Amino acid sequence: MLQDITKIGVIGAGQMGNGIAHVCALSEFDVHLADVSQENLEKGLAAIKRNMDRQVQRDLISADDAKAAQARIKSGTDYKGFKDCQLVIEAATEKEDVKKSILEELCPVLDEGALIASNTSSISITRLGSYTDRPGKFVGMHFMNPVPRMELVELIRGIATDEETFSCIRELTKKLGKKPVSAEDFPAFIVNRILLPMINEAIYTLYEGVGSVDAIDTAMKLGTHHPMGPLELADFIGLDVCLAVMQVLHEGLADTKYRPCPLLTKYVEAGWLGRKTNRGFYDYSGDTPVPTR
Ligand code: NAD
Repeated sequence: MLQDITKIGVIGAGQMGNGIAHVCALSEFDVHLADVSQENLEKGLAAIKRNMDRQVQRDLISADDAKAAQARIKSGTDYKGFKDCQLVIEAATEKEDVKKSILEELCPVLDEGALIASNTSSISITRLGSYTDRPGKFVGMHFMNPVPRMELVELIRGIATDEETFSCIRELTKKLGKKPVSAEDFPAFIVNRILLPMINEAIYTLYEGVGSVDAIDTAMKLGTHHPMGPLELADFIGLDVCLAVMQVLHEGLADTKYRPCPLLTKYVEAGWLGRKTNRGFYDYSGDTPVPTR
């Protein structure tokens, strides 16, 4: 039950994990944030502080609330801090083998009744749940980026997820100030099933020379009233995440229309992952992003 949840664990301090820790702490939950990399953990904690400071400047939260929320977040590179969590949200790298080993390592640390959620963008919740000792207490909780600003959380029920787990997570989502939408456990759920093929098509449009980075993004912003162009958005999401979602759609739905664009694969192979590596379809090393093609 929602009332039983007082401490929430978050695995992965990247852009999603630190955002999830941020909103949980502001909703007065104690938080334990863990990452395999000390450097990423520190970057994640710095991002939380920076993002909360920005909310204070915009009068969205008070300085006292921000300070109290930051004090509620503890962190570490091992899983010991998860032992008294009633819920752990996994938000690590979008690779099934990474998530599988995290879940196998996590379960023995947790209380029998603790719930586990995954923020995966695309991997089967049923299959991830099967790597745990508690598939009934496992659920998909797909936050949107940037977590503090986006209102939606897609909730995904695996075939084994208990109704009690699902309704508790739905109530928790509302308590975090978000709007839950239920999605069935199909590859990439609702938002990414629609969004990522559009981004992939924008990359094909670039690859085939139909337009430049600037032409494609300008066309979609001014021609369809999207607030960001698809290539800018791809850099923001992370090109590795985009590729991983397309691979899951391609394999999971076995339809060539989901074939990842070879240019996307090349960028990921080059380590050009978007904003997080300072280079993707734009170069972010200067004051303003510069298109790379
Ligand atoms: P990211 O690369 O910014 O962060 C991932 C973090 O996980 C890194 O800090 C990494 O060090 C850490 N990590 C890797 N292996 C780990 C392990 N074994 N134990 C603990 N930490 C580990 O990625 P992200 O964009 O934050 O994505 C995280 C998850 O959220 C993915 O499943 C992704 O699909 C999902 N997601 C991403 C977005 C988006 O827009 N980026 C949106 C919704 C959901």
